[in-house]
Parts: sequence; structure tokens; C-alpha cells
Amino acid sequence: MMRSQPLSFAPQKKMPSRPQLKVVSADDAEASAETASQLECSDALLAELAEASAALETAAPREVLAWAVERFAPRFTMATAFGPEGMTIIHMLSEVAPETPIFNLDTGYQFDETLRLRDRVAERYGIEVELKKPLLTVAEYEAKHGGPVYKDNPAQCCFDRKISLLRGAAVGMHAWASAIRRDQSPDRAKAPIVGWDKKFQLVKVSPLANWSKKEVWKMITDHDIPYNPLHDQGYTSVGCWPCTRAVTLGEDERAGRWSGSAKTECGLHSMDDED
Ligand code: SF4
Repeated sequence: MMRSQPLSFAPQKKMPSRPQLKVVSADDAEASAETASQLECSDALLAELAEASAALETAAPREVLAWAVERFAPRFTMATAFGPEGMTIIHMLSEVAPETPIFNLDTGYQFDETLRLRDRVAERYGIEVELKKPLLTVAEYEAKHGGPVYKDNPAQCCFDRKISLLRGAAVGMHAWASAIRRDQSPDRAKAPIVGWDKKFQLVKVSPLANWSKKEVWKMITDHDIPYNPLHDQGYTSVGCWPCTRAVTLGEDERAGRWSGSAKTECGLHSMDDED
């Protein structure tokens, strides 16, 4: 039976004391203007994150977000593809910290329905989700590579049009919120609530790690949260249009992503990726 998620901010466990994060000094002559504000991954930081993650393991998503905002804002950000999970986090952030910068990796291959959600978020919450765009337009990118890269080399396409964008967006940030759930895939099952993201050199906060798909949709229904209309047409997980199809009854919710290939993740959330 679905459990209703408590909305109280009362901590269910003692929250970790505010730790001291080591920040690369702005006075360091070696540090560039861009890297001066980046976090350095130290043993102390990893211990701090492990303690925080354990303390937040049974916390409600709002509590996790409130902790992250208190700890990292204004260097706390969120990336969203406007999926149902992301929409619930946007809804919660609109109440907890609406000033949180939120961005979308606009690959140029997103569905119109997905992009229209940006406007619906602005109308409903007054939040302007920033569209981060690759240097090259789709036409320029495909001309450079002699055609669509997603056909023969989706890993390269995702790197060029997603990963590199997030790397740019991470500059100056200390932490980012992701909307992954542990029950989405064996890889995502390893996600801590709070952990160090080696790939992007950021603290990664996953407030919905313990939530189920049912809990996400219950919140969407209960609060009339905007969602992508493609979900009503069998698209349980929506990514770029060339790499997404509707699923049939009984298929895994991510079966429609890169269908027919071994690829299951764009690389943003792969837990075992190294730098
Ligand atoms: Fe390219 Fe497909 Fe990845 Fe989108 S999901 S960036 S189209 S390979």
C-alpha cells in the first residue's frame, strides 16, 4: 500500500552539525576565477556527506531539500528534464527555496511537449527554468558529423549535448539536486541521499531516492502539479525524441529509452563512472 509522505520539516533523526567544507581559496594564485569557488573533495567532505546521507535516509524529500538549501545555497542548483520526479521537486522547491536556480539541458532534440512544461512551470510557480544549450545547434552538429550522431554513437551525442553542458553548469556550484529514484534501475539503486558526484565534482542530492513511482504520481495528483502530457500516451520516461518510445504494458518504465541498444543512461546518473 502506498504510504503518504509526511510534509513536516521536523527531523526524524538528529541532523549532522554544519560541517566545514574546504573551498579552494580565491587568493590562490593558481586558481582561476572559475575554479576558485569549486569544492575540493577531501576525506573530511566525504565523511561529512556520508554522515548527512545516513541522517537523511528516512527524511521526507522536503526535509532533504531544506537541508541542502540550508547547507549549500546559493551554490545549490537543480537539473531537470521535466520528468514527473523533477516536477515534484520543482513543486517542493517552490515552497522551500523558490530562488534555487534550475536548469534544463536543452539538447535540441527534446519534445515540444517537454519544452512547453518550462512555460507551465513559469506560470504556476514563477520559476524561470534556464535552458542550457550546446554550443552547436542541431543543424550545425549534424552537419559537422555528417548526420545525426545519436544513430550510431548515442554515447558521444549524450556527452556532447548533455554531459558537457552539465559540466559547464556546475562551474561555481557546490551541490545539485537530481530526481532519480533507487527503484528505477540497478545502477540507480546505489544512489545515496547525499554523496559526492565524481563526474561533475559536485555534491549530489537525491531527495526522491527512496520514493516509488506511485508516491511521485500521488503527489502530482494531490497537488495538481503540471506534468508532460506524453506520459498519458505511454511514454513512462521521456528523453530526447530520437531516443524515446512509448512502452507497452508490462515493460519496464525506462524500456523506451534508447530502446534496442545496450545504452540505459545518458551518463548523468551513472554511479560507477569515473572522472
Ligand atoms: Fe543525443 Fe539521444 Fe542522448 Fe539526446 S538522448 S543527447 S538525442 S543520444
